[in-house]
Amino acid sequence: MNKNETIAKAIDAMKICNACRYCESYCAVFDAMELKRSFSESDIYYLANLCHDCRGCYYSCQYAPPHEFDLNIPKTFSKIRAVTYHKFSWPPNFSLASFKYGGLLILLSVLSITGVLWGLFSGGKFFFSDHPDNSFYSVIPEAVIIWISAALFLFVIISFVKSFVSFRSFIGHNSHLRLKPVLKAFADVLTLRYLDGFGEGCNYEDESFSNWRRWMHQMILYGFVLTFAATTAAAIYEHLLHIKPPYSYFSLPVILGTSGGVLQIAGIIGMFWLKLKSDKAPYYEHLIGFEISFSLLLFFVSFSGFLVLIFRETAAAQFMFIVHIGLVWTLFLYLPYSKFTHAVYRFAALLYFHKSQR
Ligand code: SF4
Ligand code: SF4
Repeated sequence: MNKNETIAKAIDAMKICNACRYCESYCAVFDAMELKRSFSESDIYYLANLCHDCRGCYYSCQYAPPHEFDLNIPKTFSKIRAVTYHKFSWPPNFSLASFKYGGLLILLSVLSITGVLWGLFSGGKFFFSDHPDNSFYSVIPEAVIIWISAALFLFVIISFVKSFVSFRSFIGHNSHLRLKPVLKAFADVLTLRYLDGFGEGCNYEDESFSNWRRWMHQMILYGFVLTFAATTAAAIYEHLLHIKPPYSYFSLPVILGTSGGVLQIAGIIGMFWLKLKSDKAPYYEHLIGFEISFSLLLFFVSFSGFLVLIFRETAAAQFMFIVHIGLVWTLFLYLPYSKFTHAVYRFAALLYFHKSQR
């Protein structure tokens, strides 16, 4: 991909759209575009990260291929978003490797972390049946889990904040954050408002519309939130209420974690199914490995969490704990270079959008 050519193509496309305006009610991109008369590189990054790839403008466009203008807004914007993931990630320079070799890096990371944990804490046994209390902490010391998880979590937060700040500044949004646009942008993210198209959802090749993509995104998002809530509930149980793990199947941490895991697994399978049957013409094909490797990692984190729950009172518990922790720590390490960062840039773009629309 030649970045400059893609930016130039996107600028040309926006000029055509700004004259045409047939799609003006389709999404936030067109509302934001109409406020501008000319387009700079930073405008294109802003607009590309407002686009959620519903494809409404592709199937409606009289200038889409095979027309000589070759207007393919979803694909062009996908390319720009791919550049965004490299350009603003922190620490810099790792994202390109994750883009090209994400699956391999994830596999190596899971194998290395589980290998080290195994070497340090398994006591040379593969399985053991006389498990003292069926908790993580009887396999890996509590301090090791807490301190490494906290350090990785801090790394993710710092990375996201730095990416957010540099992207926001690049697109020209340098003023102080105001409460109203922040609340509106949060509401958009939580409801995935713009994924509803103009009420009917995303547009497909056979001219049908469907909200399935929005629902699948919501399942993954809320699944993620619930698993995070489960970890928080477990910390409250242990450190404030002094109730030690493992927790019963009907305790709050287990109910939250199980619901979150089910939602994530269902959402990921659904997204795979939609991706498989979707039209490839408006899709930037080089994103496939990047997207699939992250989805698979998220899937296996949830799946291994279920295996831990199911096997926690068996001889396989030690093995399941170590693999699950290896997957979770890999997820933390990989998040700043994953498709998840789309949420960071999209939130920054929505903030600017709501500020500009006032
Ligand atoms: S995508 Fe095509 S139809 Fe839609 S506004 Fe642009 S030029 Fe017009
Ligand atoms: S693909 Fe959908 S979200 Fe993206 S610019 Fe076109 S209409 Fe807007």
